[in-house]
Amino acid sequence: MRLTVIGCAAAYAIGTDAASSCYLVEHEGEAIVLDIGQGAFAGLAVRRAPESLTAVFVSHLHPDHCVDLVPLRHYLRYGVEAPPGTVALHAPAELPVRFDGFSGEPGFLADFAFTAHQPGARLLGPWHVTVARVTHTDSSFAFRVAPADDAVAGLVYSGDCGDPGELAALLRPGDTLLTEASFGTLPVPDGLAHLDAAGAAAAARAGEAGRLVLTHILPEADPEATHRLAAERFGGETLLARPGLTLET
Ligand SMILES: [Zn+2]
Repeated sequence: MRLTVIGCAAAYAIGTDAASSCYLVEHEGEAIVLDIGQGAFAGLAVRRAPESLTAVFVSHLHPDHCVDLVPLRHYLRYGVEAPPGTVALHAPAELPVRFDGFSGEPGFLADFAFTAHQPGARLLGPWHVTVARVTHTDSSFAFRVAPADDAVAGLVYSGDCGDPGELAALLRPGDTLLTEASFGTLPVPDGLAHLDAAGAAAAARAGEAGRLVLTHILPEADPEATHRLAAERFGGETLLARPGLTLET
């Protein structure tokens, strides 16, 4: 199973090739995308034909995790004229209504085969996908994606999450944990449900992850210091996400 980071920025980024949350997961010729934040569509489309995606999974409704559904929808409808239902969309139940309001067009996302998230595990193509609620917004989810035959370790993706214990509970020993570490070595402000380097490392350690990949780090946080602290606390392989990073699980 191969993970490719398309975008790893947080709510805003400064620079080029600085798309927000988007992670391509490929296995046995099929592909899914975990989140599709601002600027992600362009980088996704040069790495894989978007109409070949089995599904897009959206963790929560903050724009840095889903707003590039707009260009994806336009591409599928007008670019390649893909039949409705070509790509499935798994997201919080409220997502279609949000996009209807944003676009001013009822049924804006109707070409996607939509499934509202329900916590639990399901088979999807060559994968087992587990959906779990996490602490962030009222409707936020993390995912575990693993080969259906459990031949290799899986991947847990945090979305945005303020509780390391929820990620640890989703991990199986040896999995790769791809987690936000928004605040790095900075204090997490009261009232914001996000992780820092220590929280990301605590989740990886408690869940016996085989590898920790830090992502969604704010521009104000120091990525190298974040990496050092998380690696020291976790004690296992620790990487910083960057666009184009590809890993095999
Ligand atoms: Zn968020």
